Amino acid sequence: MKVGTHACTVVENRWVNARYKYLRLACPLPLARHTVAGQFFQLACPVTDTEAPFLRRPMSVYGIGPEEDRIEFLYHVKGVGTRALERLKPGGSLTIVGPLGAGFSFSSDWKRVLLVARGVGLATMAPLVPLAARAGVAITALLSARAPADLMREEFLRGAPADLHAVFDSDGGSAVERVEPLLGRILERERPDMVYTCGSNRLLALLQNILGSTAGEVALEQQMACAMGVCLSCVRLFNEDGTKVFHRVCCEGPVFPIAAVAGEVQFG
Ligand SMILES: Cc1cc2nc3c(=O)[nH]c(=O)nc-3n(C[C@H](O)[C@H](O)[C@H](O)COP(=O)(O)OP(=O)(O)OC[C@H]3O[C@@H](n4cnc5c(N)ncnc54)[C@H](O)[C@@H]3O)c2cc1C
Repeated sequence: MKVGTHACTVVENRWVNARYKYLRLACPLPLARHTVAGQFFQLACPVTDTEAPFLRRPMSVYGIGPEEDRIEFLYHVKGVGTRALERLKPGGSLTIVGPLGAGFSFSSDWKRVLLVARGVGLATMAPLVPLAARAGVAITALLSARAPADLMREEFLRGAPADLHAVFDSDGGSAVERVEPLLGRILERERPDMVYTCGSNRLLALLQNILGSTAGEVALEQQMACAMGVCLSCVRLFNEDGTKVFHRVCCEGPVFPIAAVAGEVQFG
């Protein structure tokens, strides 16, 4: 599907916990057949009496359907743009641009996938869950959160079966020294065909160290302005066949092979 500007109507915009909201939109065009897990849209957050967001804000597709024209986002209310988004009411309008970027790889021939998510990474990776479940591919998930109240387990799985491991900052379980042996055991025992991650610089670095020959993909959450490949604000460094190359996260990404990501990742 060509990237388009879509004038949408808000169907639902509700809190799922103290920091995240779920947004459901009706779009004038059927997006379901043309949007894949890992892609994102640029949301033109409204101007309110207190907020005047300038740039559009990038948000991953959290879900599509069941109607062909419905699209869902799960967003962390954190700054000017998302505070404005938070104020939208059912029946209100929101313009979105997309679908943008390259999504995750997936094959229904695979036996098992491992999903390693933290924070907003959970929203980005959530569409992989129904994709794998529908294809009969087993899912193992390792979710990392500040505390049990922040986990969003139901929002992630949405009823799909998975072997789920949860680790938290509140009891020290999410520390790299604790997650490394856990991930090592999971990889050794379950031998996933693909490992996906999003939302944590530390988890990405850990996976780069321990994956070995297991295939892995990361969705990078790089700050970006235009998301059309023009402004180059989201360019990052990658290793490809021993050569250092630059790619735009908005166009060539946001999904890249885990092994290819070089240098600092800009999220916490
Ligand atoms: C491809 C992609 C997918 C994303 N998917 C989600 C998602 O599904 N759910 C979610 O909650 N968040 C997601 N984010 C992060 C989200 O875009 C930022 O949290 C949001 O832009 C913050 O806007 P703000 O105005 O509320 O915050 P502010 O901090 O006030 O934003 C100021 C500026 O910085 C930019 N910015 C700030 N933080 C980020 C960030 N982490 N990444 C990129 N730009 C940033 C904004 O676009 C804006 O231009 C995604 C980011 C990218 C790049």
